[in-house]
Amino acid sequence: MSNDFRFYNSLTRKVDEFVPNEEGKVSMYTCGPTVYHYAHIGNIRTYIMQDVLVKALEYAGYNVKRVMNITDVGHLSSDADTGEDKMLAGAKREHKSVMEIARFYTDAFFKDFDAVGNKKPDVIEPATNCIPEFIHMVEVLLEKGYAYQAGGNIYFDTSKLDDYYVFSSAIEKEALQIGVRDDVEEDSNKKNKTDFVLWFTKSKFEDQALKWESPWGVGYPGWHIECSCISMKHLGERLDIHCGGVDNIFPHHTNEIAQSESYLGHKWCNYWFHSNHLNDRAGKMSKSKGAVLTVSVLKEKGYDPLVYRFFCLQSHYRKPLEFSFDVLDSNVGTYNKLVKRVSELKADGAVDENVKKEFEDKFREAISDDLNTSMAITILYDALKADTNDATKLALVESFDKVLSLDLIGHAKSLLEGGADIDPELLEYINEQIQKRAEAKKAKDFATADAIRNELLERGVEIKDTREGVKWQLV
Ligand code: AMP
Ligand code: ZN
Repeated sequence: MSNDFRFYNSLTRKVDEFVPNEEGKVSMYTCGPTVYHYAHIGNIRTYIMQDVLVKALEYAGYNVKRVMNITDVGHLSSDADTGEDKMLAGAKREHKSVMEIARFYTDAFFKDFDAVGNKKPDVIEPATNCIPEFIHMVEVLLEKGYAYQAGGNIYFDTSKLDDYYVFSSAIEKEALQIGVRDDVEEDSNKKNKTDFVLWFTKSKFEDQALKWESPWGVGYPGWHIECSCISMKHLGERLDIHCGGVDNIFPHHTNEIAQSESYLGHKWCNYWFHSNHLNDRAGKMSKSKGAVLTVSVLKEKGYDPLVYRFFCLQSHYRKPLEFSFDVLDSNVGTYNKLVKRVSELKADGAVDENVKKEFEDKFREAISDDLNTSMAITILYDALKADTNDATKLALVESFDKVLSLDLIGHAKSLLEGGADIDPELLEYINEQIQKRAEAKKAKDFATADAIRNELLERGVEIKDTREGVKWQLV
């Protein structure tokens, strides 16, 4: 196991050497999706970078146990009970029950989550499974004097803490501003502006769909409590790594720490891993903006979800990343060339273990250095160019793909099995030309249709019209 695994810890605001609570083992918690709408490709970027973190830790020799929640209740757009209940809004929009909405979007989420090569967390727990645990934590916080009841709701009293703003970084300040902007309506029950709801019984939503009995009346949990409780339920009182996107820092993670450490009476989580956002030209992608660009939509448009992963891996997780179809298109070409390169490797001969180790060490170093994924990809290219045999190169591709998860060998095999050991760009060109020819024929422009056929023939591609459609072969 390597001792020099390090990454940026938002709590200390520097790149820290990683030392787990228990040698060789990592407990990791991930804030899961809110399931009132599709997860957009920005959300999926966050989960890709967390997947790389898990796999990089495993590559460095750690045994990782990872838990993720599914937010299927309690996610308001603000803590003041003034925001919209997002689940209920989703249910109304689609004329479904809240649980139907949750199930539908949870399935849609994992379809996209899996398609980009992510490994499922070991435990996936919907918030609605854990209501007794939430109630217990709220009871303890009340007993210890960290919480108070006002206007029917239970609030966490942030004035009881010496240091509430634990992540006082530039990122948090930025998030604070966003938080302040979003949280426009004040809740007059709160003693302090930063207090937050642990349990609601007085909701402004008369028809709140999901409610449970509690010692304080029928109600439902606040937004933050689920992550503290679900994490402790499966990973115990001391957590190694907590993950999320930068927008989770404040107030969500700040509040998770406040309630967890007050409940436990000791430090809870040592490392906080936050990845930055994916933006489009119009700004940050967001679920509430309406039409969402999902991995499934990319697939429908003909993009391989792993090309999206490849695009994400080339940029550092702490930097904002701008998405455009132009950039994605150029990644299609680069990815296909890489697959082509791998497909040309012949598996005969013995693996040179020395060379393999040398490259694996370099790769591990890159990936253990605050997840330097672009450097890891450069090392992959270096390995493909190295002065060694194909068997060694193939072994290295296989090894690196444990972390990169680009399915390079699988795609290379499909390329070969397709019988078409053909340049992917040429393949794209052929398909485009066939499409253009079909359009020309439809418009009865037979001269253009023939010209396209002849031009393809000159490039060694013969097309034939058959009952099953247009077929082509290399001649
Ligand atoms: P949500 O379902 O809205 O709670 O988001 C799921 C995850 O995606 C959270 O960890 C968010 O921090 C993260 N996230 C939200 N918006 C973006 C974005 N534009 N780019 C990357 N990650 C995001
Ligand atoms: Zn969370």
